[in-house]
Amino acid sequence: MERIYMDHAATTAISEAALTAMVSCYRERDGNPSAIYPLGQDSQGALEKARIAMAKGLHALSTEIFFTSGGTEGNNWVLSGVARAKGRGHIVTTAIEHNSVLKTAARLEEGGFEVTYLQPDRFGFIAPEQLEAALRPDTILVSVMLANNVVGTIQDTPALVKVAHARWIPFHTDAVQAVGHIPINVRRLGADFLTLSAHKFHGPKGVGALFCRLSNYVPPLILGGGQERGGRSGTENVPGAVGMAAAFEECLAGLDEDTAYLTKLRRRLTEGMTAIPGVRLTGDPERRLPGLASFIVDGIPHSAHIVYALGGREICVSSGSACSVGSQEASHVLKAMGFNMRAAMGALRFSLDVSNTEEEVDRVLAVIPGVIEEVRAKKGSLWG
Ligand SMILES: *Cc1c(COP(=O)(O)O)cnc(C)c1O
Repeated sequence: MERIYMDHAATTAISEAALTAMVSCYRERDGNPSAIYPLGQDSQGALEKARIAMAKGLHALSTEIFFTSGGTEGNNWVLSGVARAKGRGHIVTTAIEHNSVLKTAARLEEGGFEVTYLQPDRFGFIAPEQLEAALRPDTILVSVMLANNVVGTIQDTPALVKVAHARWIPFHTDAVQAVGHIPINVRRLGADFLTLSAHKFHGPKGVGALFCRLSNYVPPLILGGGQERGGRSGTENVPGAVGMAAAFEECLAGLDEDTAYLTKLRRRLTEGMTAIPGVRLTGDPERRLPGLASFIVDGIPHSAHIVYALGGREICVSSGSACSVGSQEASHVLKAMGFNMRAAMGALRFSLDVSNTEEEVDRVLAVIPGVIEEVRAKKGSLWG
């Protein structure tokens, strides 16, 4: 049986274009970009070309792009960097952020910073009025993700940025789930800092970038040789940056067509899933990532049992929170959205991609009611 992969929010396969670009980079331009002989300068050229491509796709300047090791580093960098620059103060973020934001914020709290975690509504939205009410004279940073990785809800980021900027407070957004999937224009968003990661849009793993608006400064997180104009030390991952840029360009070229296709596919999946008794959609029905559909399955101890059973049939989906059948937790995102513990335990996330087909969706819909029945029937023993 062919494997059906519907967990693209966890990671995506590297695209052929990205892989080809990387291989030729490793073969022909594998010098150190800091070296001044031609081999090094060739690498430097490839790196800057990748930077220009990333900037263009985001409507940024190339001097505003810093290559990183991925989303986790970008988020750590901005939060701890701004905190370091200010020395003290108050940070506003949300209860639905990725752990790379939440754990960094928690560490800052240990260091004496105060953090407010905004609670979203039932659909995962943070209201501008809510942010407004949380701001204080000593607020040094606002960090609100662009698109949520568990439920797919897309925030009204420009409205949130406006509130922060009215008080001259810098705004960071974790856009890891959004970049390559929806159009991004950093000027229109207005954010000062934006985090992205290549492996969520068919680029290589362990590569990402931070957009840092020219007028904003964030001290480096990683110290050393002063690469990336002093912003991020360490010998540059040139093939990684080149692969990321190739993947990004490819995503942008097909964005409109892919969005239309994915929206149709997601609706088909959503209709089929919500037709099953005791299954409901989470997140906003419309303002969401085109390929991401998350559900709550009632009457089961934990969705990991469904994920596991589907895995045995070569169908890859996610329970929407970091978990295994052994360690069962409920997603902090769903709890923050107001779902009780038992409901949140039943979260099932499908993240589709253009490589998925209607036939695959139908195949999943054909087996899933039986799997849910099975898990519900075993409920007593599983709970015991
Ligand atoms: C995957 C993800 C990250 C982490 O990115 P890595 O490149 O894997 O470190 C951060 N934020 C969100 C929303 C994500 O989905």
